[in-house]
Amino acid sequence: MALASTIGERVAMLRARVDRVAEAAGRSAGSVAILGVTKTQPRDAVLAAIAAGLSDVGENYLQEAREKYVDLPAVHRHFIGHVQTNKAKAIVGLFDVVQSIDRLEAGLAIEKAARALGRGVRVLVQVNVSPTERFGVAPAGAAHLAEQLRSEGLTVDGVMAIGPLEGDVDHAFETAREAFAAVGGTTLSLGMSADWERAVHFGSTMIRIGTAIFGARPVQERVTA
Ligand SMILES: *Cc1c(COP(=O)(O)O)cnc(C)c1O
Repeated sequence: MALASTIGERVAMLRARVDRVAEAAGRSAGSVAILGVTKTQPRDAVLAAIAAGLSDVGENYLQEAREKYVDLPAVHRHFIGHVQTNKAKAIVGLFDVVQSIDRLEAGLAIEKAARALGRGVRVLVQVNVSPTERFGVAPAGAAHLAEQLRSEGLTVDGVMAIGPLEGDVDHAFETAREAFAAVGGTTLSLGMSADWERAVHFGSTMIRIGTAIFGARPVQERVTA
């Protein structure tokens, strides 16, 4: 792969590669959205990625988004970190989609905050498909959680999952695909810089990409969704 030096070039190259992989998997070009994961990156980097055509950006950490995600151009802002119920109002105030609802309590807090702020918010059910991952509802409980969330008035639009760092990636992704089929909706948020190609083969409609767009993060930290 040629070295791409700017965020804009990396986004364009990735877009082309994602479309090729989608077509190789028998899917249409453009059927997989790229969510730019901006944790630890400065606001300028977020703006550069948006200028390069990304219409979805995401953050794990509320505190970072407070500085970076105000007054962005018209894009969808996704919260992909662990939902603390006492932060629900701030999350709803800053984000359009909450991808990481993994228990009823979190969904109820988000719904209540959305109602108080008069804002619509879409959510995904985070499903745990990996022994190395701390959060997420067990796959067998995903459909029931989605049903409970919908009966509370939330718009549940699909599933988010984080693949294993090592081990049987295909098995994990197949589990995520099955959970998505059970939950319903339009979004299967699956795949990161290291494993997005497999995720596209397993039906991902949204890959979450940090490193491959923005470069290595300054400090090595664990994924904490
Ligand atoms: C950091 C993070 C990503 C992006 O990871 P990269 O390997 O840098 O692409 C995607 N999803 C979640 C939940 C993350 O925390």
